[in-house]
Amino acid sequence: MSKKCPDLVTMLSQLIASPSVSCTQADWDQSNLPVIELLEGWLSHLGFDTEVIPVEGHPGKANLIATLGKGPGGLVLSGHTDTVPFNAERWQSDPLTLTEKDNRFYGLGTCDMKGFFPIAIEAAKKFLDQPLKQPLIILATADEESSMSGARALASTGKPTARYAVIGEPTGMKPIYMHKGMMMESVRIEGKAGHSSDPSLGANALDAMHSVLSELISFRNEMKRDHQNSAFKIAEPTLNLGCIHGGDNPNRICGHCELEYDLRPLPGMSLDNLREDVSRRLAPFADQFGVAITTKSLFPGIPSFANQRDSELVRTAEKLTGFQAESVAFGTEAPFLQDLGMDTIVMGPGSIDQAHQPDEYLAFDQIKPTVAILEKMITQYCL
Ligand SMILES: [Zn+2]
Repeated sequence: MSKKCPDLVTMLSQLIASPSVSCTQADWDQSNLPVIELLEGWLSHLGFDTEVIPVEGHPGKANLIATLGKGPGGLVLSGHTDTVPFNAERWQSDPLTLTEKDNRFYGLGTCDMKGFFPIAIEAAKKFLDQPLKQPLIILATADEESSMSGARALASTGKPTARYAVIGEPTGMKPIYMHKGMMMESVRIEGKAGHSSDPSLGANALDAMHSVLSELISFRNEMKRDHQNSAFKIAEPTLNLGCIHGGDNPNRICGHCELEYDLRPLPGMSLDNLREDVSRRLAPFADQFGVAITTKSLFPGIPSFANQRDSELVRTAEKLTGFQAESVAFGTEAPFLQDLGMDTIVMGPGSIDQAHQPDEYLAFDQIKPTVAILEKMITQYCL
């Protein structure tokens, strides 16, 4: 018998009505505590032991670990509580009001990924009165869409521990065992401005940047030559030169120039090693052009993720869903949960095509099958 907790649609509508944008721009960034408090209330009511853990250095942000049952091993069902920023005027309905239309639930976070929580809780309700031999853990994290500070904090404190983890990002319930990493980096060149008629009066940051750009393109070509993984649609690591700002006037020596680029490494390529490679390759240009070159990470980066293609959880998920495990092009919290020693996959309802878009929705027909698959996983790994 289920204990009192709202039904799935009520839970979803309350989660959608609790805005929790996370963003590197301070004027957009919001606390995720209203979402954490809703989940904590429902789950403790259902008999879960709940622990709300503030994310150190990020006021107003917290993770939730809710545990049903005790024992070794166990299963984590994990989701992030935050959403991306939104443009309400581009939506056909209020993004913060759950709206049912055309057999879909519309609202900000319906598929990415507040919708996963009511579905996971619905699956858990079946097991409330059965003694679990291994724990079922519902994990709710902060700041996935911005810094991943929530998952980083969990990985650094070693919590939670379990044998298996499913991250319910929208994959149309296809099990995902691999994704690329993501880095966003900048190169700043400080030269010396002066009158353009005499180059010896300054140090031209744009001249130096020209060499930096060539070097980064050589680096990209070498990475493509040396690293290929055919499990990805784009088989090589990518390096995108994203934006450049510098100089002020045609008749001044350019005193300052700054470049930002994005690099998506394959599994097996370490973010730290890549940063060192870039710094080492660019260093000689400082002397050559008489400028200062500083490389900086715009955020800590997301490591790539790769589980064993035939891990226990991957095989179980393939059997339960009828889908072959795949790779995806987006980053997730999976590398951090894997760091905690768990056999980890990304698999959840809804489509990534609807994520980060106006009129985000979760189709009704995704819900019941997901509840059923999660119930089977709980039966297999917790009973
Ligand atoms: Zn997401």
